[in-house]
Amino acid sequence: MKEIFMEYTEIMVRYGELSTKGKNRRNFISRLTGNVTKALKNFPDLSIHPKRDRMHIQLNGTPAKPVMAILDRIFGIQNYSPAIKLPKDMAVVHATAIDLVRATLPSPTASFKVNTRRSDHTFALDTNQMNLDLGDLITDTFPNIKVQMKHPDLTLRVEVRRDGIYLSTETIKGAGGLPVGSAGKAVLMLSGGIDSPVAGYLAMKRGVDIEMVHFFSPPYTSVDALNKAKELTAKLAPYAGAINFIEVPFTEIQEEVKAHVPEGYLMTVQRRFMLELADRIRAQRGGLAIFNGESVGQVASQTLESMLAIEDVTNTPVLRPVVTMDKTEIIALAEKIDTFNLSIMPFEDCCTIFAPPRPKTKPNLERARQYEAALDGEAMMARALAGIKLTTIHPQDEFMDAHKAETAALL
Ligand code: ATP
Ligand code: MG
Repeated sequence: MKEIFMEYTEIMVRYGELSTKGKNRRNFISRLTGNVTKALKNFPDLSIHPKRDRMHIQLNGTPAKPVMAILDRIFGIQNYSPAIKLPKDMAVVHATAIDLVRATLPSPTASFKVNTRRSDHTFALDTNQMNLDLGDLITDTFPNIKVQMKHPDLTLRVEVRRDGIYLSTETIKGAGGLPVGSAGKAVLMLSGGIDSPVAGYLAMKRGVDIEMVHFFSPPYTSVDALNKAKELTAKLAPYAGAINFIEVPFTEIQEEVKAHVPEGYLMTVQRRFMLELADRIRAQRGGLAIFNGESVGQVASQTLESMLAIEDVTNTPVLRPVVTMDKTEIIALAEKIDTFNLSIMPFEDCCTIFAPPRPKTKPNLERARQYEAALDGEAMMARALAGIKLTTIHPQDEFMDAHKAETAALL
């Protein structure tokens, strides 16, 4: 995109996938308006006007660019256009149209068209007349430009509304999806790996408001591993405004499992405890589902047999947004949302450290239940739950300062 130096006056936001039913539409719009308002709270001069078919964000002197950068990460926005509001004076419209086309024309020989919409039917020019008038003006001013109705490089959009004439030439793709919160609340089991942050992004994209549940096992896992999971949460926070991060002490359970469960079932039994704890936290927090970053066949704990033996501990929906994705596809998304470089930083998390060398890829459900029943699970889970800590994480929060320089050297 070209450097924008036009003085835009508003950003016109078009809604994403939106059921046309009355109540759903109202919920979608009010949720999106709330999310947009919260995300833009540092711009006090903006005024936000949600309408039935789109939202107008009046800039009132605020530069468009930083506002657009924030809109890019708000789910529920299909696309948006920065626009300029003008008085209904054709001399002013002409001068501004020329400036705007000059500022945003991709090349001197680009193709273009004018597209006018009119809600004020009292205005002297109708849509056809406006298209012709401005079309002529542009072709006279830019002699190498060519008019093209289908898929032109540039569309000059003109809207004649009651309160003025609006011009825009750019339509920028939004994040899509549904407004965060519109689908309810859930927990995400967040490790420090590549997959679970991507799963979290995809859950939020479908409107789910997530809270992170992270298991850590000091002293076997370092404070860096914990901070890395928190920093991953900060990377995802712009999509939600803020995200609660719940850390769960897992050392005792892992030590007990390691001491008493046959090696082939260490991983299965550990995972059963993790899932059960995540489920109890979900219930406390009023969540409706558990998300995780599993993908079929990726590792021993992610075979269908393992999933069956682990998911046995709960009836709650366990949702796996990346379940059928290849690692390369997951990585591409991790790069897009800028979690990849953080995820590959080498801090061992609790699962890596207690991972048996030969976990069963086809654990037997009855055996897993038996081994687990031999432990005092209830008491251990109660202690783990008593030790949880919740931190609310915001987009700009940083947790890994001390290591920034070191990792910069590694990368
Ligand atoms: P990831 O890249 O998300 O770590 P992975 O491919 O490394 O996934 P595992 O380590 O087996 O796979 O973890 C599978 C899933 O279990 C993770 O995606 C995550 O949802 C959950 N999980 C693993 N470790 C933790 C942890 N320490 N805290 C919370 N959840 C975890
Ligand atoms: Mg992992």
